[in-house]
Amino acid sequence: MALSSLHRLSIIEKLKGNHFDLLVIGGGITGAGIALDAAARGLKTVLVEKNDFAFGTSSRSTKLIHGGLRYLKQLEFGLVKEVGSERAVVHHLAPHLVVPEKMLLPLHEKRGFGSLLTSFGLKLYDFLAGVKPEDQRKMLTRNQTLLQEPLLRKDDIKGGAIYAEYRTDDARLTIEIIKSAAQHGAEVINYCRVLEFIYKERKIVGAKVREEISGNEFEIKSRSVINAAGPWVDELRVLDKSKQGKQLHLTKGVHLVVRKKTLPVKQAIYFDVEEDSRMIFAIPRGRTTYIGTTDTNYDGSKEEVIVTGEDAAYLLRAINQTFPGLNVTNDDIESSWAGLRPLINEEGKSATELSRRDEIFESPSGLLSIAGGKLTGYRKMAERVLDQLNSRTFAERELEDCKTHQIRLFGSDFKNYGEVKQYVASIAERLKKVQLGDEYAVYLVGNYGKQTELILNDLQSGEPEVELAKAELRFTIHHEMVVSPLDFFIRRTGMLYFNKPRMQKVYNVVLEEFKGVYNWDMVQFERERLKVEQIISGVTSFK
Ligand code: FAD
Repeated sequence: MALSSLHRLSIIEKLKGNHFDLLVIGGGITGAGIALDAAARGLKTVLVEKNDFAFGTSSRSTKLIHGGLRYLKQLEFGLVKEVGSERAVVHHLAPHLVVPEKMLLPLHEKRGFGSLLTSFGLKLYDFLAGVKPEDQRKMLTRNQTLLQEPLLRKDDIKGGAIYAEYRTDDARLTIEIIKSAAQHGAEVINYCRVLEFIYKERKIVGAKVREEISGNEFEIKSRSVINAAGPWVDELRVLDKSKQGKQLHLTKGVHLVVRKKTLPVKQAIYFDVEEDSRMIFAIPRGRTTYIGTTDTNYDGSKEEVIVTGEDAAYLLRAINQTFPGLNVTNDDIESSWAGLRPLINEEGKSATELSRRDEIFESPSGLLSIAGGKLTGYRKMAERVLDQLNSRTFAERELEDCKTHQIRLFGSDFKNYGEVKQYVASIAERLKKVQLGDEYAVYLVGNYGKQTELILNDLQSGEPEVELAKAELRFTIHHEMVVSPLDFFIRRTGMLYFNKPRMQKVYNVVLEEFKGVYNWDMVQFERERLKVEQIISGVTSFK
């Protein structure tokens, strides 16, 4: 099952010619999780995504697999217990991609929580999530906190705490779940948009879709349909004429990326912003540190969500107040991204107060829509919506129970994190021979896990960094349905966010490779080049 973009025509023929049990709309983490769970339970499943996989919120999060410490304050114990417990499960399913990250929580003299309350809250957090004793929270004195992070403003630190979370790459996690779904028999395709639903006796029995690359429209027949379209969930409910009762409430969150040298924090930090007491993260990743996030109500375009000057100024103020010796400015920003939280509206609540719980809406036509939730809870969301579908549509077939807790994701053939580290060391040795530094071993294994082997086996002779990018491109075209340069630079490699210097170096070669593989003429080549250049300039120019 290689998910090759060169096999699109044969995939489309299968979509046209089959009668499916389940059509999943949306190739974000929610749809991906549902497709894997459904295929593993034996349902004949198809997933369609209108843009690239993980185009929506699932490539624009804070990229943490976390329990949501702040939801304790909102007394969301059930949510914290579920997502907190899921962290270890998802780490086990992809130990190279969901990696342990200790988080520092500084405590202040004049604001925020006291040491006792924090100590109790973190204890409860560990307890609810069943965290192993060796990973449980440790309280720090003032000196220990400042030793842990000497960049912190010194005058009002009274202590701190260290607790366990996990870091991931949201888009890579999504793509590996999608590949695992395909391995279990699901048909999946990106750039294929649901235009309208098909009904028989008022019950939903499929959808009319448009393949966005050729513009061809066709029908997909399916006994059931799940709408996992994230911020677009309500648009599909409108198509189904069933948008009644609860609705989505979109809030925007932005992140800024600076060089590690600019914000050289020693580890991930979760701190509160002096002016409004909101909590934000500063997270080191490779040669960068990223900072986020904001949380503001949103009613603009869902296709193009931008970072405004006001968003950037807020995060820069927060950074400069917390780490006063640094003076980080707009000129230091290397990249940024903005995403939308598809939350469920609750009258009278502000953006930050809205619950992060997921909810399922069932329409009279049988369309199931699922929204809300977290990246971290994707498996449980999938299990819930499929159990609901099962009891209604497939009751006579006795669907198997959910087993995604046992399905290691693509490229994750590691027993534990220790094995991942050994593998990184062995890849580093191999890369030395072709003049590539250790940082590439960390990057490749973090991104592709054991699939690194396939990429390195395809390395040609030439300038090492350029040849590596070309080998990655061939891999992602043949195994991950990459269709456009943005799929590659943003969602498969994260280069646009976390390695702009590398992107600048390989950019022209990558575009030339695309031109060759897809036989672009000069007009199309220029169109694609312009698209990438607009996005590149957009991540550092804020309106
Ligand atoms: P999406 O990822 O948006 O996927 C929906 C997909 O449906 C899109 O790709 C879209 O193109 C597709 N689609 C829409 N309409 C159609 C159509 N007509 N036909 C076909 N396809 C269609 N959670 C965490 O656990 N940890 C975090 O650190 C974290 N940080 C966050 C930070 C921010 C700023 C935000 C905004 C969210 C964060 N979250 C986090 C929450 C998490 O990212 C989201 O809950 C999750 O990504 C939502 O995934 P989704 O699949 O539901 O939606």
